[in-house]
Amino acid sequence: MRTPAGTECRHYYEDFNRGRQTQECRLIKANTRSLPWTPPLCAKCRVPDVLRANGSPHLRLELTVRKRFGLFTALELTGYCGRHGRPVPDLMRGCEACAAED
Ligand code: SF4
Repeated sequence: MRTPAGTECRHYYEDFNRGRQTQECRLIKANTRSLPWTPPLCAKCRVPDVLRANGSPHLRLELTVRKRFGLFTALELTGYCGRHGRPVPDLMRGCEACAAED
């Protein structure tokens, strides 16, 4: 689905049918440690780029909204490989263990 920033993202959901006013990021919504999503966050989110570069079905992402210095809103993106159970430091390149096996 197309985000308010104009990018395609599989974690974005909206429904304006029949008077509904639903907009949400389901990746942030699933993270209980995150502050809530707001539409402007999509413009500075790396997730669409990561998903375009890394098509691994084993990649698990966690996106957290935080306040920096109590003022600025920042997005923290981390990921791990569900196949090998290890962090993926470079999300654009993907899991090194998966790459070594392929
Ligand atoms: S915040 Fe990021 S992950 Fe969430 S819907 Fe927007 S672009 Fe997608």
